[in-house]
Amino acid sequence: MRDHGAPGISWALLVLCFALALSPAPQPAGDRTASGGAEVEIEPEMPVVALTFDDGPRAATTGRLLDELALREVPATFFLLGHRLQGNEELVRRMAREGHQIGVHTFDHVPVTGLSRQDFGLQVGGVRAQLRDILGDGEFWLRPPYGQADGNTRAWADSPIVLWSVDPEDWKDHDVSRIVSAVTDQVKDGDIILLHDIYHSSVDAAVQIVDELLLRGFCFVTVEDLLAWKGISPEPGTVYRSGR
Ligand SMILES: [Zn+2]
Repeated sequence: MRDHGAPGISWALLVLCFALALSPAPQPAGDRTASGGAEVEIEPEMPVVALTFDDGPRAATTGRLLDELALREVPATFFLLGHRLQGNEELVRRMAREGHQIGVHTFDHVPVTGLSRQDFGLQVGGVRAQLRDILGDGEFWLRPPYGQADGNTRAWADSPIVLWSVDPEDWKDHDVSRIVSAVTDQVKDGDIILLHDIYHSSVDAAVQIVDELLLRGFCFVTVEDLLAWKGISPEPGTVYRSGR
C-alpha cells in the first residue's frame, strides 16, 4: 500500500476510488462491498480531483444533484449561502450524512474584501453559526465569492480558504456540453473544479463530468480529503487552489 503520509485520509473512500477505477460504470449504492482497506492496493498514479459547488442550497437542483452523486458514491464539497439555509436544513443534513464536505460562501454573496471586521463576522462567522445549529460542530471552510481574498480575509477567515483551479463558468450560458468539455478537456490530477448547484444545466453537466472522469479512472474526493491525500496540512487563512 502506498504510504502517502497523510493522516486523516479516509481509507474507505480511497478503497472506493480503487473500486470505481476498476468498475467505472455507475452502480447502485447497495452493490458495493465494504472493506477495511488493509488488503487493497491503491494505484499511486490515480488522478484525484475535488468537485465543488457554490451558491446553494436550492432544493430543486441540489436535491437532484445529491441523488446523482449518491448513485455514483461520489463525494463533493458544497459552499453554502446563509440566506438559503432556512427551509433547506434537511437538505444540508443530507449533504453531511452522505459524506459531502460543507463550507461557507457568505450570507448573501457579497465580496468579503473591503468588509469591516464586524460585517465579515456576520457574513462568515454568522453562517458558520447557522451551520453549527443545523449540523453541530464543524470547521466549515471558507470560499469567498468571486474568489476574492485579501489580507483581512486571510487574517479573519478562521479556516482554510478554498478557491479553484478549473472554472468552466457554468453560470455564463448554461450550455451543458460546453461546460462538460471545459472541464474534461483540461482537468488533471489535484484539480479543484468549480460549479454551481443552483442551475439545472450545471447539475446535468456535473453528472456527465463525473461519468466521463470515472471512466478515465479519476477518483473524486472532498477538498479536505484531496489536500490530505496530497500530503498538504490545511492551515487557517491559507488559500488553496488545488491539491498541487
Ligand atoms: Zn458564488
